Amino acid sequence: MTALSQTIPGQTLSGHILHPDGEFRPGTLGFGSQISELIAEETPSGLLILPGFIDTHVHGGGGGDTMDGPAGVQKLARLHAQHGTTTLLPTTITHRWPEVLAALRGVREVMDAGGVAGGADIVGAHLEGPFISPGRLGAQPPHTTLPQPSLTAELLDLNVIRAVTLAPELPGVLEMARSLARREVRIGIGHTRADADTVSTFLSVLHAAGARTCATHLYNAMGEIEGRTPGVPGALLADPHAFLEVILDGIHVHSTSFLLARAAAPGRVLLITDAMRAAGLGDGDSELGGQPVTVQDGKATLPDGTIAGSVLTLDVALRNAVRLGLPLAEVSRMLSTAPAASLGLTDRGELRVGLRADLTVLDTDLNVQAVYVGGHAISLKPPQDSYPTEARL
Ligand SMILES: [Zn+2]
Repeated sequence: MTALSQTIPGQTLSGHILHPDGEFRPGTLGFGSQISELIAEETPSGLLILPGFIDTHVHGGGGGDTMDGPAGVQKLARLHAQHGTTTLLPTTITHRWPEVLAALRGVREVMDAGGVAGGADIVGAHLEGPFISPGRLGAQPPHTTLPQPSLTAELLDLNVIRAVTLAPELPGVLEMARSLARREVRIGIGHTRADADTVSTFLSVLHAAGARTCATHLYNAMGEIEGRTPGVPGALLADPHAFLEVILDGIHVHSTSFLLARAAAPGRVLLITDAMRAAGLGDGDSELGGQPVTVQDGKATLPDGTIAGSVLTLDVALRNAVRLGLPLAEVSRMLSTAPAASLGLTDRGELRVGLRADLTVLDTDLNVQAVYVGGHAISLKPPQDSYPTEARL
């Protein structure tokens, strides 16, 4: 029996509980591995009890990276749990195919071993590249590949991918997308040079087939939006079904662009970190996909100045969104309910009896005070990383 499958005794938490209707109401939440009861009652506790955060796009943190294999996955799952994330998808970076497959096997190995004790729950991997445009790499290394049925078959055999990022203009990509979507994989659009019509058609065909779709870090590595050439962001914002990932660190996306996404896609914006291994380590030298990265004042860049992955954590993203004037309940939907829906996860994402006891508890300053993953308390270390990205918006 692994540490994660032990029976959990009944526990309670009192405070202001965020209910699925978007209201905070005082009460006590009872839970084992699942939420067992929600009791409405007055309480002197000022704590805010939210559903745990779900990060669908995170490469690393705490010195670990998905490409490192199981040890890297464990490090990142533990680091992000410290910041309120209770579910995540370790995310691969564009690399030579055998190395991508090895990283995916590493994620599967961690899942098969029962998960990461003291870390966020891992529900699969996000494959970001190599099926992307060589002309829109962002910070991805230049190891792009064209989709082929044989590669799709290899991916499906691993039974670990839960989300994928694809460039819709690549030959053969629709066939790959359909095959993956049939296996409940969320189809992401990103690192692309497609025009708006290509994106809209790609999305329509997939939606007609019942697929779940998402923008991979909306606005980043997808060109610009203009009146006569709406581009990839325009097509994604106009689509009535696609979810939209946003990196709200004050660096990757202008606050007005974020507010545009919020207005265009109510309930379909989800906050991600896109964090790299340096997240949680403070400023200094690091690495992304074999490339040197420098982190200064919370901004990670390649030697040529290209913005690399972030050092964001979701508690910081939450505070950034609140600072922009969003109600906390709405931000919680972006951190928990929307990402769960985007992945088709029906056992988490809200605080309801019968769902997993994935809980993130905040004080009134919105600092993380307690985290529970499937009812297991995460032991929190004193915060060591304070990034100025919080004040930059
Ligand atoms: Zn990424």
